[in-house]
Amino acid sequence: MVMKKILGRPESLFDRPNHYCAGCGHGVAHRLVAEALDHYGLRGKAVGVAPAGCSVMLYDYFDVDTLESAHGRALAVATGIKRANPDLFVFTYQGDGDLASIGMCETIHTANRGENITVVFINNAVYGMTGGQMAPTTLLGQKTTTTPRGRSIATEGSPIKMAELLAGFDGVAYSERVAVYDTRQVLRARKAIFRSFDAQLQQAGMGFVEVLSPCVTNLKMSAEKAQKWVENEMRAVFPLGVYKDRLGKDAAPVAATTEEGAANAT
Ligand code: SF4
Repeated sequence: MVMKKILGRPESLFDRPNHYCAGCGHGVAHRLVAEALDHYGLRGKAVGVAPAGCSVMLYDYFDVDTLESAHGRALAVATGIKRANPDLFVFTYQGDGDLASIGMCETIHTANRGENITVVFINNAVYGMTGGQMAPTTLLGQKTTTTPRGRSIATEGSPIKMAELLAGFDGVAYSERVAVYDTRQVLRARKAIFRSFDAQLQQAGMGFVEVLSPCVTNLKMSAEKAQKWVENEMRAVFPLGVYKDRLGKDAAPVAATTEEGAANAT
């Protein structure tokens, strides 16, 4: 796969300021998705499905058709769009509250059905828009507005690892976890998002990318400290790496090649 080098604003992004907090990872992730849309020439045939959460106004930023879904239902909406219009390129862009909590049912059943949909999942370990409540991905010991003493395994359970979980479904063609805390990781994230597009374009099944991203506002940290927190704290719990890649191959999943240890992969 040869990726075009894009120096200016991707055509799939509108030229306007966004509402995200300074230091938030959403802006970077948006750009990477837009670069993939441009690269594959999908602007005229792509449909995005937005979640409830900080990225609820996806339609304000992407120059493609975009639908807003009810909280957690993005993949149900995306399934309907894709099945009714199989020639469209359909992607969802969802946060951890949306995809891994309220929408967990939709997520695992869409994965199990092997829908040809691309899923970009932003994991920032907290409910961002609604004020910093515990998310399924909140770290053990992490203080949130609903876990003021820190998340406890005894009362709230452990962080849910979506990239590993979804890799276990036969209907998922690609699953990778990346991060956007420095330039090297952003380039890896770019490649992974392109790969998740490949999954749909090859009609191989769901393409899933989990992006570890800083929520500066709810972490109550500077942008720099929040990036370090993602690198040092989040990455220890959520190892980066490819958990499944069977693109261009027969049905058998390829063994995981994680950066921090394949033992964590399914
Ligand atoms: S609240 Fe957090 S996730 Fe939401 S825009 Fe601000 S930094 Fe980003």
